[in-house]
Amino acid sequence: MCGVSTGSARTRGADHRHEVHDAAANQEQLLEPSHTIESRLAEVICQTPHAMWDAGGVSELVTTKNLRRAGFPFRSGALCLDFVGTIAKRGMGDQELLDSPERLATWLRAAGLPEVLDPISDEQVRTAHALREAIHDLTRATVERQRPSAETVDRINRAALPSPPTATIALDGRTRVPPPPGSVESVMAVVARDAVDLFTGPYGPRIRACQGHDCSLYFVDRSRPGSRRWCTMAACGERASSATYRRRHPRS
Ligand SMILES: [Zn+2]
Repeated sequence: MCGVSTGSARTRGADHRHEVHDAAANQEQLLEPSHTIESRLAEVICQTPHAMWDAGGVSELVTTKNLRRAGFPFRSGALCLDFVGTIAKRGMGDQELLDSPERLATWLRAAGLPEVLDPISDEQVRTAHALREAIHDLTRATVERQRPSAETVDRINRAALPSPPTATIALDGRTRVPPPPGSVESVMAVVARDAVDLFTGPYGPRIRACQGHDCSLYFVDRSRPGSRRWCTMAACGERASSATYRRRHPRS
């Protein structure tokens, strides 16, 4: 069921988002090749930025083929954890993917967030980095069942305070009017609020660290048994399975 948007290009429907991510994570083909663009759009009318990505005017579903959008990984199942993933290879060289205002703007667009009103400054990039690291610290504390620092929690809470640009309903009562452009702070508040919702919600205890040997991503395990080990089968699960197979069946 669709919920009220906090600023996404599409109505936020948590259930749909979860279904899409799980489907993508499990490499299930979401749509048959014979589907037309119109039918595809009809099927994703209630999905989130995670489920939709506007590529050159054509909205695309998130599938195993486009879990990376604009070069960024989007496979955690949660906006805030995707944001954490903008440092690639954490603990293994730390590759900064948001190393300029332009890259941050690109990530915000790739995430399907509202447009930013003014050019992003270097200072705003640093503030975004600080929010991201706070969410990372909270994620790690959660996974390790530790208490986060007060500073970490305070930073996320403060980032969540601004009102995000919000989608509205047109006078016909059925057409969704996308959110207007907003300040960087108001758009980043969407990410911070996503963290508030995730970590305090039913899936908080289902946040996991991917067990892929060279993957540092976190993800939300929405599998029924709660035993998912990889961010996605396509990215890490299959590699782990093939490595296990090679170990068990070495060529002589
Ligand atoms: Zn992974």
